[in-house]
Amino acid sequence: MLNNYRFTAPERFLRYVQVDTQSDPHSLTQPSTEKQKDLSVMLVRELKEIGVADAHLDEYGYVYATIPSTSAKKVPVICFCAHVDTAPDCSGTNVKPVVHKNYSGQDIVLPDDKSQVLRLEENPYLETQMGNDIITASGLTLLGSDDKAGVAEIMDLANYLVSNPGVPHGEIKILFTPDEEVGRGTVKADLGKLGAQFGYTLDGGERGNLEDETFSADGVKVVINGVSAHPGYAKDKMVNALKIAGQILGALPKDRLAPEATEGRRGFIHPVHIEGTAERATIEFIIRDFETPGLKKKEDFLRTLVEETVRVFPKASFEYQVSEQYRNMKEVLDQHPQVVAYAREAITRAGMEVRMESIRGGTDGSRLSFMGLPCPNIFTGMQAIHSKLEHISVQDMEKAVETLVHLVQVWEEKA
Ligand SMILES: [Zn+2]
Repeated sequence: MLNNYRFTAPERFLRYVQVDTQSDPHSLTQPSTEKQKDLSVMLVRELKEIGVADAHLDEYGYVYATIPSTSAKKVPVICFCAHVDTAPDCSGTNVKPVVHKNYSGQDIVLPDDKSQVLRLEENPYLETQMGNDIITASGLTLLGSDDKAGVAEIMDLANYLVSNPGVPHGEIKILFTPDEEVGRGTVKADLGKLGAQFGYTLDGGERGNLEDETFSADGVKVVINGVSAHPGYAKDKMVNALKIAGQILGALPKDRLAPEATEGRRGFIHPVHIEGTAERATIEFIIRDFETPGLKKKEDFLRTLVEETVRVFPKASFEYQVSEQYRNMKEVLDQHPQVVAYAREAITRAGMEVRMESIRGGTDGSRLSFMGLPCPNIFTGMQAIHSKLEHISVQDMEKAVETLVHLVQVWEEKA
């Protein structure tokens, strides 16, 4: 435990979730919604109140701040990063957080919609939360622990370090980003200005989790060129591109290589969009695998499947375009093993068992890693995210803060 420290993450969290910061995938502005800055402005003000003098918000909605070093050693500069926006999938307007004290396994009925019930048997992680205080929304909105838990925990780290100047650590950078949920969280991040060597996103789930892997990801676009003709006089002339597209989709494996048939470390080929006419049809796929060479194998497999389907129609042809989306951050993190090793050490020192996880998706951390800031993802406690049953415990949030306090000291010790 942190001797007699009164954690501020939970009370900050309860305030931050009441600010609507939903991002918008259809917006072309940066940030995608102006309201995200409402929280960012609040964070800058609170950082200054804590004593972090250089905290500021830029025009694109990013908050930058520095906690000066307390060590005489030359310690690498570490950044902690979290996103202020909440997911577009579920309302984030008028979030009313409710604290359910001393959880004992009972059903938690959300007050504003009694059909929303948080049940132990559907959320087995709650088994680890007996006696803890669980925060939920009121039933009409998401909670926003993704990622305001991460934001509140980093704010509490700042509060702890500034009020305990005897704790040795190097220079710490704080970065709060907008628009992570719409895939644009790092677009305008200025890493030169940030000036950190290594980073951590606070955007993970269960207590003790540490994520150092994401998918590698490509997109594939298949265009099928058929032959159009007046349907009344089409005999032996028309080749319908839509029907060929249907055959391609029908020929995809059903019990493997599909998101609905895979978990763990297995990747997939996933059609996400189709459009067209008899003359020309387009299918868009996403390809995912933890191994980048595995992407190529899946792309070759899909290409062969398309080729064989189209070959039956001599007058039809196809185009096949692969575009890179993002890469597994482990490729970068393996070159800097201390980043993950020190986080493991910090989680252990905070009294938890480390659980290494792979993210079946991408994160700001994977993008930051390839932009030059190696950046694994640390747990925050968030659960059932992007839903009305989203929840988090006060105690898990405090464990995350404790982990960060250890982590900055591990970096100082090893320098
Ligand atoms: Zn998140």
